[in-house]
Amino acid sequence: MKKLILLIFAISALFSKAQNNKPAFPKPAPKLIVGIVVDQMRYDFIYRYWNKYGNDGFKRLIAEGYLCRNTHYNYVPTYTAPGHASVFTGTTPAVHGIVGNNWYSREKGKMMYCTEDASVQTVGSNSVAGKMSPRNMLSTTIGDELKLAGMKKPKVIGIALKDRAAILPAGHTANAAYWLDKTTGAWISSTYYMKELPKWVADLNAKEPVKAYLSKPWTTLLPIEQYTESLADDNKYESKWVGETAPVFPHNLPELMKANGGMGMIVATPFGNSLTKDMAIEAIKAENLGKGEVTDMLTVSFSSTDHVGHFYGVSAIETEDTYLRLDKDLGELLKFLDTQIGKANVLVFLTADHGAVETPAYLMDSKVPGGYINDNAYADTLKRRLFRTNGDSLIIAYTNNQFYLNHKIGDKRKINMLGVERTIADYMLTVKGVAVTVTGTALKNNQFTDGVQALLQNGYHQSRSGDVVVAYSPGWIDYEKTGTSHGTPYRYDTHVPLIWYGYSIKPGSTDEHINITDIAPTVTMMLNIPFPGGSTGKVIRQISEQ
Ligand SMILES: [Zn+2]
Repeated sequence: MKKLILLIFAISALFSKAQNNKPAFPKPAPKLIVGIVVDQMRYDFIYRYWNKYGNDGFKRLIAEGYLCRNTHYNYVPTYTAPGHASVFTGTTPAVHGIVGNNWYSREKGKMMYCTEDASVQTVGSNSVAGKMSPRNMLSTTIGDELKLAGMKKPKVIGIALKDRAAILPAGHTANAAYWLDKTTGAWISSTYYMKELPKWVADLNAKEPVKAYLSKPWTTLLPIEQYTESLADDNKYESKWVGETAPVFPHNLPELMKANGGMGMIVATPFGNSLTKDMAIEAIKAENLGKGEVTDMLTVSFSSTDHVGHFYGVSAIETEDTYLRLDKDLGELLKFLDTQIGKANVLVFLTADHGAVETPAYLMDSKVPGGYINDNAYADTLKRRLFRTNGDSLIIAYTNNQFYLNHKIGDKRKINMLGVERTIADYMLTVKGVAVTVTGTALKNNQFTDGVQALLQNGYHQSRSGDVVVAYSPGWIDYEKTGTSHGTPYRYDTHVPLIWYGYSIKPGSTDEHINITDIAPTVTMMLNIPFPGGSTGKVIRQISEQ
């Protein structure tokens, strides 16, 4: 009896939690939404560098905002383009169709890039870097729903060094997306959005801000001996620039840039983030974002953290320094929002598009499981094997850990393609470092509810993805032996920060498991506008009810 009463009590407590005693009258909407994505930011970086952060950036966001401490990507592959699309559409690649940064297109018969669009032209330079649009993304974003609900009056703008990180978050109906042309160092866009750059962007480019940022060496923000959260500056797990004999400070950018990508080198320094922050502030000012009758939206992605992380790894002083400098940039952006629009009028959320694994060479030296896999070698072996069996290669592509099969040849020769899928899946399981293989047929015919298989299925788009999907064991990557990467279903790649700040947000935190796809439904619920059409996430009640 006692148990029954307890049960009834628990159920009624749950039920009352799902209710809100306040009537659901609309409240004044924020003037501006700022969606910030930090590329490759692991959740633990909040606390790893806590004692070194200033008071105006991450510490302020957490002191005055609400931290969802247990937020995860709920699909594989954990890459930049799927990450940005998932944050802003509220769904996974299975629905929004951005299954990788690149993928094999069965329709085109070749590899394609996530935002490539041959029908548009670059605006702002003579290169092909602007032949981009969001057309390959199959769902609406928060910004799209804002536009549609507001009779297109809201302004929506996306900014990032990487094209995909500017274009996908802003969505299909955005006024503009701006990204960096790495050959010229200019902010550019595409004819998908506009015929020519607005005067304020052209004026900004004329000041050559990239050149200015690359005019002095990169030294540490704090005295180097204070970087106790990282390994020694000179270690074998970091990459070196062409012209450097050791991966150590100071990095002489004016001298190094010529042999290391010219203006494009800025992306792999913390100053790429500062450049992005400058551009975001200019956009808010020049476009009068947050000054109109309706809610505007700005998406800002800080891409340099990813480039630096890939080059130096998780435990490098360079990576730490990049976060300390990002912290200052965020502080400046928040202060600007205070004076320009007012904290209570701006809803800010900050998250990341994926995490990263600790450099596997370092893991191995530390007796932690991990390793390196050379995927293409195995794919080639399989291609040759299937070639011998069938007289023609049945594998047309191997990308994003997925094998794509040639079904035309299979049909013509009446080959048992299910058997081919199984052969590949079984063969890959003999490769050291491979943990799981799933056939496309299994993914199409079953509903996986848990574990790695479920994450693979959420990342699997039935017409865009491959015929056999492979996942490695924890700590394994297909990458160089210095620096690091990401893309797996494991916690170091899925666990990211999620901080809400401004508008109606009250300070607090939760350890409840939240999926990355919950952000977009939460924002649209707060704005009383429709969810992005494809969204599959749930509303985070701790946020929506504030
Ligand atoms: Zn990356």
